[in-house]
Formats: sequence, C-alpha cells, structure tokens
Amino acid sequence: MARNQADVVIIGGGIIGCAIAYNLAKRDVNTLVIDKAPRVGTEASWAGAGILTSHASTHEPYPTLCRASLALYPALAAELKAETQIDIEFIQAGTLSAIFHPDEAAGLIGLAERRVNRGFSAQVLTAEEALRLEPALSTSIQSAVLFPEDAQVRNPKLVTAFAKGAAQLGTRFKLGNPAAEFIREHGRVVATVVNGERIYADTFVIAAGCWAGAVIGMLGCPIPIVPAKGQIVLVEAMPPLFHRPIDGLGVYLVPRADGKLLIGATVEFAGYDKSTTVDAVKQLIDAGIGIAPALAQSTFVQTWVGLRPYAKKGPLLGYLPGHENVVLASGHFKNGILLAPITGQLIAELLTTEETSLPLTPFQPQMQHDANGAA
Ligand SMILES: Cc1cc2nc3c(=O)[nH]c(=O)nc-3n(C[C@H](O)[C@H](O)[C@H](O)COP(=O)(O)OP(=O)(O)OC[C@H]3O[C@@H](n4cnc5c(N)ncnc54)[C@H](O)[C@@H]3O)c2cc1C
Repeated sequence: MARNQADVVIIGGGIIGCAIAYNLAKRDVNTLVIDKAPRVGTEASWAGAGILTSHASTHEPYPTLCRASLALYPALAAELKAETQIDIEFIQAGTLSAIFHPDEAAGLIGLAERRVNRGFSAQVLTAEEALRLEPALSTSIQSAVLFPEDAQVRNPKLVTAFAKGAAQLGTRFKLGNPAAEFIREHGRVVATVVNGERIYADTFVIAAGCWAGAVIGMLGCPIPIVPAKGQIVLVEAMPPLFHRPIDGLGVYLVPRADGKLLIGATVEFAGYDKSTTVDAVKQLIDAGIGIAPALAQSTFVQTWVGLRPYAKKGPLLGYLPGHENVVLASGHFKNGILLAPITGQLIAELLTTEETSLPLTPFQPQMQHDANGAA
C-alpha cells in the first residue's frame, strides 16, 4: 500500500488512538496513526493518574462499559509484556475511600451496600481496620470503604506498549504535524491533509482527545468536546506510604511502583490553559497531608497539567452523524485510561465486523443543535 494510504487512519495517538490501533493491528487492518506531537501519548494519556475504578452499583451502559474494560486488564498486561517486553505496572490491590466526616459516610456506605446486594464487591471498614490496612492514614479517619477489584496502571507505559505492539504488527505512525483538513469527494471523506500531504483512507477514526471537537468541526459536525484541566502533584515518600490508591477529602493519592506518589487532581474548565497554579497545588498538598500526615515530610518532585476530553454525554463512540466512514472515539473525561482497552476492542469490532460485543448505541455521537434547530 502507498505511503500516503491506509485502510484506516486514526487521528490522535493518545491512549485511545493507540488502543484502537493495537486492536486493529491484531485484526490485520492496515492502519496509520497521525499525531500532532512528535511522540505518541504526550497529552492527557501521559498526565493521567492511572487509577482503574468502577464503583457504580448498577447495570447501566456506562458502568457496564467500565467493568468490561477493567476485566480486560489482567490478560492485556500479560499479553503486552510478552509482545513488547513493557511492564505496564498493572496492580490490582483495590482502592480505599477514606471517610473523615460523618456526612460522607452515608453516601459511601450506602454505595458499598448496594454494590454487595447486586453482586459487586465492596467492604466497609472501621477506622481500626482501615489503619491496619494502611497505617499511614491519619488517625482522624472515621471509617472507610475498600473496593477490592479496583486497580492501577502506569499509563505512559501502557500507551507506549499499545503503540509498540501495533507497530510490530505493521501499524504506521505519522508524527509531528496535525491533521489540518479533510478532503471530500462526492460527499465522502477520502483524505486528511498533514503538513500539506494528502493521506488517503477508507475509514477515519477521530481520537484526538480534547481537540476532537475541533477536528470534527472541520467536517461541520457540532459536537462539543472540551478540555477539563487537571492539575496533579508528584512527591517522593520513602519508604512508600500506601499499598493502594486512596481517596478522601476531595483528592486521591496514588502510590507508584517507583516509590513516588501522585496527589490529584483538579477539574477545571479553563480552555486549553496548561499552567499550574499555586492555589491548586496548595489545596492538593493540604488535602493530601490531611489524609496522610507523613506526606508533609515527603520530597516535592513536580507538578503538571493534563487536559481531559469532556463531552456532556461522553464517551462518544461510533460513526459521526452523516458520515458513513468517520468514527469518533473521544470524550472519556476522567476514565480514559480505564476505558482504553474496551474502546480499542469495540471500535476495532465496529470497523471489521459492524457487530460489537457491547452495544454502542448509548454512546452514539449526536450533533448538538442550537435553540433554533440549526446545527
Ligand atoms: C490529571 C489527570 C488525571 C487523570 N487520571 C485518570 C485516572 O486515574 N484514570 C483514568 O482512567 N483516566 C484518568 N484521566 C483521564 C485520561 O487521562 C483521559 O481520559 C485519556 O488520557 C484521554 O485519552 P485520549 O487519547 O482521548 O486523549 P489524549 O491523551 O489527549 O490524546 C489525544 C491526542 O490527539 C492528538 N491530536 C489532537 N489534535 C490532533 C490533530 N488535529 N491531528 C493529529 N493529532 C491530534 C494530541 O496530540 C494527543 O496526542 C486523567 C486525566 C488527567 C488530566
């Protein structure tokens, strides 16, 4: 096949684009991934904390999607290790929700009970039990809920592993310039333009994270996908303080295998601004110390910002309205790392068989019309 031609072109080489590429490569589909950055996975997919949680107690489509994706992780971690020699640091030690105020208790304990009644796992712990499990917790803790099936992963390694696994199977990557335009013939998209060059494909997948709205905007499709800024703090605490991610006081703490610990994260609708602010960093650190007083003695390492792709009814997975060969896969907001494996699988199924192992109808992209009905 010519250098500027593929069966499928994926626009966006974050965790979603690379997961789709990996799944298509497994199905022998000739795929080319375009990213505006010189490397894959430099945006939200690098910045994320890597917590894999699925706390809901219902069988609604979104929690079902989350659970299905979490269930794919153990085998995926082993497969990627065997194929790429990359350890994605998948650890399934649960997550612990720490309760410090009586008014938080009812909600969380009620959720735990509903989960257990519906056959999902959750364990309500007394303060003593929580402190036995995680001795670095503040003794002001009142109770806690353990979600034993939750897990964590080192997301930058996962993106690299997906990309390497796909490349080994023939996927090509065109990095360093954005897809800036689409070319249509007889109403059908036939090519995208990258640095002046036309790249032709039968099908286009838009997986451009929080920029996906702008990319589909080039096709005249008004589906808002906006950046939700997340600030995060990295510290080093040796010996490690925790055995599993902890959340409480409006933040979460994520211990990493390298001894460092993340304190995250803000959710701010501030456009494409990627600055870190003293105020947000202070609030994250203060809450972190509230959960674990020993954090005050840890070494400050770094702060950063990532822009999550937020769509009101996200994630959006499926053909763009009015476009029979353009698929959207974006809007994963706070759970893109969790949802990458199932997204990759479902989009690859859609493109190769038109039948998906979970229904995509609840996630179907829909145009948003203004009050006058105009698109
Ligand atoms: C602070 C923070 C903490 C998070 N924590 C978690 C967590 O614990 N668990 C979890 O599951 N999720 C978490 N997330 C969310 C998760 O990181 C995102 O949902 C996920 O990374 C989105 O992946 P993506 O591939 O859609 O987007 P991105 O990673 O942003 O990738 C989009 C890619 O598209 C490229 N692109 C954009 N426009 C173009 C164009 N025109 N042409 C070519 N390429 C283009 C970009 O360069 C980028 O590489 C967190 C996010 C943040 C910011």
